[in-house]
Parts: sequence; C-alpha cells; structure tokens
Amino acid sequence: MKINENYLKLGENYLFAEIAKRVKAHKAANPDKEIIRLGIGDVTLPLVPTVVEALKKAGGEMGAKETFRGYDDEQGYAFLKEAVAAYYAAKNVALNIGEIFIGDGAKSDLSNITDIFGTDNTALIPNPVYPVYADTNLMNGRKIVYARASKENGFLPLPDSAVKADIIYLCSPNNPTGAVYDAADLKLWVDYALKNDAVILFDAAYECFVSDEALPTSIFQIEGAKECAIEFCSLSKTAGFTGVRCGYTVVPEALARGGVKLNALWRRRQATKFNGVSYIVQRGAEAVFSPAGMVEIRKNIAYYMDNANVISRALTARGAYHTGGKNSPYIWFECFGGLESWEFFDRLLTSCGVVGTPGAGFGDTGKNFFRLTAFNSRENTLKAVQKLAEFKA
Ligand code: PLP
Repeated sequence: MKINENYLKLGENYLFAEIAKRVKAHKAANPDKEIIRLGIGDVTLPLVPTVVEALKKAGGEMGAKETFRGYDDEQGYAFLKEAVAAYYAAKNVALNIGEIFIGDGAKSDLSNITDIFGTDNTALIPNPVYPVYADTNLMNGRKIVYARASKENGFLPLPDSAVKADIIYLCSPNNPTGAVYDAADLKLWVDYALKNDAVILFDAAYECFVSDEALPTSIFQIEGAKECAIEFCSLSKTAGFTGVRCGYTVVPEALARGGVKLNALWRRRQATKFNGVSYIVQRGAEAVFSPAGMVEIRKNIAYYMDNANVISRALTARGAYHTGGKNSPYIWFECFGGLESWEFFDRLLTSCGVVGTPGAGFGDTGKNFFRLTAFNSRENTLKAVQKLAEFKA
C-alpha cells in the first residue's frame, strides 16, 4: 500500500497554531494585560432573527411525520436555488437553477472542484492568498505557478501572456489583502482564460462587502465569463454561517472543455461523493435571501464595514500603505518601520496587546505585510487602533 505522497509536500499548517502559541506565552507572562484580537477571520455577530426563525420552523417540520424530510436532491432544494438565482438576477446575472449547486460552504467546493480537472493541468494561484487553493492542488500533485501580488500592482495581479495556466484562482474581494478587482481587470482575466482554454475558479466569498456599485460582485457580470468561469460563494461571512455551513457554486451550462460540459461533470462528482446540505440549514439559507433577512444581514455587514473604516482611517493617519478596508472586511498593510511580519506580530503583541495575522502566512510576498480584520466589536476595534497609533516601530 502506498500513501498519497503529495501530502508530504505540504507545508505545515502552522499559521494559526503559531499565533495561538505566541499569544498563550504572552498571556502567561502578562496575565493582567488585555489582548485584542484583530486577527480573527471568523464572524462574531450572531445569526439574524429571520434566519433563526426559519431554522426553528424547519427543525419543527423535521419532527412531524407529515413534514419530515430524508434524502433529497444532493444539489440542493429548488426553493434555495431559486432564491440564489433571484440574488444573481439583482446583479444582472441570469442563471437557471440547474447551474446552481448548494454545498456546505466555499472551502469544500473550492477544494473538491479539482476532482473534475486532470492532474497534469497547471494551476495559477495568486500570492499571497487564502492557502486552501495551493494546498488542494499540491495534494493532487498538480503543478502550480504563482501570480505575484505586490505594492506595485496594488495586490491585484493581472494575466501575463507569457505564462500558460489551465486553472486560475481569483479571489475578489481578496483574503488576505482586501483588494478588489474592477470590471476592466476581470475582463483581462476572462480574455486570458478564453484564449488559453483555461478555467477561472472565482472565489466570491466576500462579495457581500462590496458597496461600490462600479465594482463587480460576480465574475458573471463580465462578458464571456460563462464560457470560462466557475464561481464559489458562501453564507459564512454574508450571514454569519461559519458554524451553520452553507454555500453555493455556479457552474454555467455554457462552460465546456474538451467537448464536455463541466456542469455535468460537477453534478456527477457531487452525486457520487456528496449527500447534500441539511433541510434545516437550507431553510435558514433561504431566509437570508428574504427581504427581511437581507435588511438584517446588511445591518451586520455595515457594522463590520464601519470597523474596517476605523482601521483604514487609522492606517491612513499613520501614513501606512494599505489595501482593503473598503469593500472588504480585511485590511492589509505594510509593517511599520520596514519590519518583517512575524517580528511586527511580536512587537504589536508585546507592546500593544493587539493580535493580527502576519502576512508571511499567506505567501512569501506577504513577508512585510500584516492583516487585520473587521470582525471584532466596535469597542475593541477602537481600542486597537488607538494602540496602533501609539506603536513605535
Ligand atoms: N474563501 C475564502 C477566500 C475564505 O477566506 C474562506 C474562509 O475564510 C472561504 C473561502 C471558506 O469559507 P466557508 O467554507 O466557510 O464557506
């Protein structure tokens, strides 16, 4: 028997474990000092009332003989796919419900989608970015090339015609940089993908934070994208579903490679390896898209975005280069005093009690950068920015 040796090529999954270790040591040495966590990538506000009501009601239905549900369509209930289609229609993107797949969140689908692509394809992955894309392709033994994001390109790398790639990961708004592609830049990627017979895997997990109406919130708002892209989205950040688990993936009918429709391949993959999201959760997700649900979740999103603005303003006041904070809950800034990100992490923790995430954890291009998030309370965010203002590099 042989193990999948590709797993041995993976780096240690150590970023958050290392952060926790350093915070614990600091706490042990300074038990009375307050710690403010602006490193968290998880939401903190509870589910909104309309969603809670829908979850309770669906739970009740499962307890009555007449309304109990067992196995059903693993691709999702029509009521939720219709709600998602209506959400897209409001963005001027027409989808039929056969193009929408309900899943347990974006992470699973972003990883599992690689099942339908040959392992001899090359994956193009931005650096820095959400680490799941690279790890998944390493597990499959696929070749990876990196699109380097930097201060020079505003952390929004564009296609390079000299680089040949088959699978392209784009994340906008980006984790960790908070940078958001505009329509013209996305069109360059779509044109590159069409020309190279490549497929774009577009991670829109943070689309709900975009308030600038000129910016795209779906790759399908770009002409030609239905012939070259798959989009992944999630209710994790949109509606606080990180612990509830529900997302959706859009595989257009028009997307084919090698004469085969990718929609049919993904359907086949899911039918074999996935048995659907629970009825209760799908009813909760449907409630997110209801008029009352939308009003409630937008209030929470606005709360996080006010925090993001507070952080962005404080960095501007310090003259720190940063991306994000607008149209994104992430703020990515250059470490003060030219420090490297782990050193900056230690200094910020010990002198200010503020915890963030070292940019090096998202790729080598993040070596001198640092990520803060807008997911803490207003009170803590205000305290943290005060400390940032006082920080001496
Ligand atoms: N994509 C990005 C860029 C993320 O940052 C995350 C979570 O942090 C996910 C996808 C996964 O989200 P979920 O699996 O909770 O839907």
